[in-house]
Amino acid sequence: TLTDKLQRSFKSLRGQGTLTDENINDALRDIRVALLEADVNLTVARDLIEQVRAKAIGASVATALNPSEQIVKIVSDELLNVLGRDTAKFKFASQPPTVILMAGLQGSGKTTSSGKLATWLKKGGHRPLLVSVDVYRPAAREQLKVVAQSVGAAIYEGAYDAATDNNTAAVLRLAKAAYKEARNFAHDILIVDTAGRLGIDEALMDEMAALKKELNPSEILFVADAMTGQDAVNSAKAFNDRLQITGAILTKMDGDSRGGAALSIRQITGAPIKFLGTGEKPDAFEPFHPDRIVGRILGMGDIATLLERAEEKLDKSKATAFAQKALMGDGFTLDDFREQLRQIKKLGSIQSIMKMMPSVGPFAGMQQAASQVDEKQFGRVEAIINSMTQKERLNSAIINGSRRKRIAKGAGVEVAEVNRLLKQHDQMAKMFKTMGSGGGKMQQRLMSQLGGGQ
Ligand code: GDP
Ligand code: MG
Repeated sequence: TLTDKLQRSFKSLRGQGTLTDENINDALRDIRVALLEADVNLTVARDLIEQVRAKAIGASVATALNPSEQIVKIVSDELLNVLGRDTAKFKFASQPPTVILMAGLQGSGKTTSSGKLATWLKKGGHRPLLVSVDVYRPAAREQLKVVAQSVGAAIYEGAYDAATDNNTAAVLRLAKAAYKEARNFAHDILIVDTAGRLGIDEALMDEMAALKKELNPSEILFVADAMTGQDAVNSAKAFNDRLQITGAILTKMDGDSRGGAALSIRQITGAPIKFLGTGEKPDAFEPFHPDRIVGRILGMGDIATLLERAEEKLDKSKATAFAQKALMGDGFTLDDFREQLRQIKKLGSIQSIMKMMPSVGPFAGMQQAASQVDEKQFGRVEAIINSMTQKERLNSAIINGSRRKRIAKGAGVEVAEVNRLLKQHDQMAKMFKTMGSGGGKMQQRLMSQLGGGQ
């Protein structure tokens, strides 16, 4: 990943006294390769490198930072310059309803993001109305309906006949009727989910342009799949050339996320990234913070986001009680294990959590480990613990062969999987014990992070 690569080039700078033309060049070459591998657009990468070079050479004279720190600072500043320094503001129309047009290719995450956006807006006290104008795929309209129902958001379905209403005229009619509905029923925001194609085509662009003219949206959000890298950038450009997008939503950042798409889309369209999609669930969605992404790209981790999420989602008293119990030597039971799993699951997918860990120091390797985590297994582990009796959960020592067989059957897994879990739990219990007895510092740090240290 870009993170690893930059980390490595910075490492090679370490131990050298000052920035020289030569070591700057070495580092820049690595950084350039890393950017390109992360799907940063060629011209964007080249511009960035030239900026960094100019600043690095200028900076080499007098500063307290060592060369590696200098380059980190310069690269981080330049990335921030590209991404914009502030969290993008959301634009509202002076006369409600504010219209948000969702644009993008099929499969990019428009429908999912429409639901997420509605959820987010509702949390902010708004009354969004959703409408799908994808008249070409009845299943797509149905999908939005299901999404809307699952998040308790209003949806406009309108009078629409799948047999005949499959043209741009029907799209515009639906859009207009939805707008009226929003106004009449005091919805301050109308979110319009549109049809996508597998590739850019004229018909799609014409229809989007007609929708724009009809609805005069405050926001045209281009939804991009972060996993598609360079392709996302090209389609962002095509949509922007025709529609002048006002922002972008980068989805699937929970996958093997590449910071590259964010950089390039911003640089090429000038439009800010406004939100990130970090999972399939309606609340796996967050406003885009440029400084956090830069931290992630540079391997400083995204601890700010993680802590914020933990703050919001975790039951603090439970976490504290757990820490006290596990670390103070009372032992770590399977019951505790299950409770931990449940708490962690509230934070989002394991992969998205791991990605936010710093890739340096004691956390090195964690991000790589994250790519191998099997989310499904997580659910199975919980099922296995559920199949145990409370007595077994509190004292795993009594779980003999026949109990293992029974538990496996109850959870619908192989006995081997139960064995693996018990072994894993045993290791964790041992680890907590050592942390509790020996690792005074680690314990204090954990406790104070969990709010139980005072
Ligand atoms: P559309 O065709 O643009 O409307 O795309 P959809 O909203 O139907 O999404 C396509 C697929 O991507 C679905 O399976 C979604 O569940 C999935 N998806 C959307 N956003 C995210 C995300 O942020 N993370 C992950 N992991 N999957 C996502
Ligand atoms: Mg869709």
